[in-house]
Amino acid sequence: MFNTHPIQSVSRKDAFPENVPGPFYVNTQCIICSLCHELAPDVFRISEDETSFYVYAQPSTAEQLAAAEEALECCPMEAIVRDEND
Ligand code: SF4
Repeated sequence: MFNTHPIQSVSRKDAFPENVPGPFYVNTQCIICSLCHELAPDVFRISEDETSFYVYAQPSTAEQLAAAEEALECCPMEAIVRDEND
């Protein structure tokens, strides 16, 4: 699927602190719909206090990367960011 999201190089001030370092992260726009976890369960998980999903592990395989990219494309809030500068 074509990625319509621009590659962003924004500051991470809106990112949840639980995100592990790396290009993918979830920002504060997350509405906890859980779609990202359904698409990429190895990458996205709900936070301990259940206030947001976050990047639990950066994708480390081609399969996980494809799943994370699909989640980024499908997130209804565009809350998933891929920062190529990281
Ligand atoms: S798909 Fe987007 S809005 Fe839904 S839980 Fe994941 S980051 Fe949050």
